[in-house]
Amino acid sequence: MATKKITKKEKERIHKILELLDKEYTTDIRCFLNHENPWQLLIATILSAQCTDDRVNIVTKDLFKKYRSLEDFANAKQSELEKDIHSTGFYRNKAKNIIECTRKLITDFNGEVPEDIESLTSLAGVGRKTANVIRGNIYNEPSIVVDTHVKRISKKLGLTKHEDPEKIEMDLMDVLPKDNWIRYNIQIITLGRSICTARSPKCEECFLQHLCKSSLVPVERRDSKDA
Ligand code: SF4
Repeated sequence: MATKKITKKEKERIHKILELLDKEYTTDIRCFLNHENPWQLLIATILSAQCTDDRVNIVTKDLFKKYRSLEDFANAKQSELEKDIHSTGFYRNKAKNIIECTRKLITDFNGEVPEDIESLTSLAGVGRKTANVIRGNIYNEPSIVVDTHVKRISKKLGLTKHEDPEKIEMDLMDVLPKDNWIRYNIQIITLGRSICTARSPKCEECFLQHLCKSSLVPVERRDSKDA
């Protein structure tokens, strides 16, 4: 499990947090971005930058009917693709990146989405976060995706003090068991959308209130829902 030096008490606290996340959200996790193959997930993840997964799923429903292969995207007219993905925001950059990325997949990677982080991040529009989404969801490679929910809630839970996503990723890799890496992201997104929202965390309703370092519930009123 952890390589970082943490106290036994802290290890137990983290263990309980993970247990409760599994209990609440199950271990049967599913990627929020709809896709039928690796390249569709890659494109959906590029589109998800600064956009909700729900919006991306609405857009990709028609997009993947119109563009049925990597070649269709690689040969797309940028202005037309921009229109097709317009509602996901930042559509100019995203269209440019999708065309460049799919061209490189065809020329340099035989039309396959690569598995290693260096190859993935060499593709246009693919940063560490997108690369980890692919590694975790397609190749089942333990990886931690630091998105806005993971960043905010991991800090609240006291699992990192950092702001920089790469440093947060390293901190989480240190304190979370490898088996939890992939599902931690999905579970925390679910928590972040429903209870620990950015605007007003509902600590009173939160099943982690007795374990969270930022709980707004007074200590004497905290409810323990340990498994
Ligand atoms: S106790 Fe509050 S701050 Fe902590 S995870 Fe739950 S909702 Fe978020």
